[in-house]
Amino acid sequence: MTGLMSGKRGLIMGVANDHSIAWGIASKLAAHGAELAFTYQGDAFGRRVKPLAEKVGSDIVLPCDVEDIATVDAVFDELKARWGKLDFVVHAIGFSDKNELKGRYADTSRENFARTMLISCFSFTEVARRAAEMMTDGGAMVTLTYAGATRVMPNYNVMGVAKAALESSVRYLAGDFGPQNIRVNAISAGPVRTLAGAGIADARLMLTFQHRNAPLQRTVSLEEVGGAALYLLSDLSSGVTGEIHFVDSGYSIMSMPRIEELKA
Ligand code: NAD
Repeated sequence: MTGLMSGKRGLIMGVANDHSIAWGIASKLAAHGAELAFTYQGDAFGRRVKPLAEKVGSDIVLPCDVEDIATVDAVFDELKARWGKLDFVVHAIGFSDKNELKGRYADTSRENFARTMLISCFSFTEVARRAAEMMTDGGAMVTLTYAGATRVMPNYNVMGVAKAALESSVRYLAGDFGPQNIRVNAISAGPVRTLAGAGIADARLMLTFQHRNAPLQRTVSLEEVGGAALYLLSDLSSGVTGEIHFVDSGYSIMSMPRIEELKA
């Protein structure tokens, strides 16, 4: 453990269980001295998140459903009352109807398009605006994206379109908040086995394909995504903002499957 995050306080949004990317990030930040608050969506997740928060010494565990803006406001009101100021935020929230995470993107419904955009993209802007108000000594924000934002991934569909908008939001928010020394970045993680990941049809095949064709010939761990978040949220990356940082075993640099795989 280093003191990289000592004296820094931050909000972690998006832990559903101990397989969540947000949990990988939270445990890494806590191990390096960060003080954390957590949000959870609904009582069932709350029962899982509370013991996890306890493990990293956090007693601020608040309900928040980003579709209900009053719950987002309540989180920031509570943080203002408890901490006054905030140093960082992790937004690891995404949702789309799993019936539309299969088949053609062209068949996406209007309702699910709007809902996916609100939860998976616009919620970051709404959170960022509230968090920035509390980042009076500068700060850092990280959200989670996926390569399906810029390239066609079978079944990822409307989530890819939402992630493209999320990545663009990262750049606009970085532009808006840069003068306050608030940095905004995204981690583009390779596929990880999580609850949200399991909603995508044939997710298992995405993992296998990545495993076989990424330069490192494996998928990435929660620990590795956590390490990248530690860099982006600590002063180590003080000159970095508006970036989409890939943590994907190098998969995104490949233009075709590995020759050895094709010959096999
Ligand atoms: P996860 O299921 O563990 O986390 C998703 C979280 O989103 C859950 O905690 C859920 O409660 C929350 N959420 C959904 N709708 C919400 C709402 N209305 N209000 C508040 N919270 C809501 O899965 P994960 O894979 O850890 O997902 C975290 C982020 O990482 C997502 O943005 C996802 O798109 C992204 N991501 C995942 C992968 C992957 O392969 N798993 C890869 C790249 C990016």
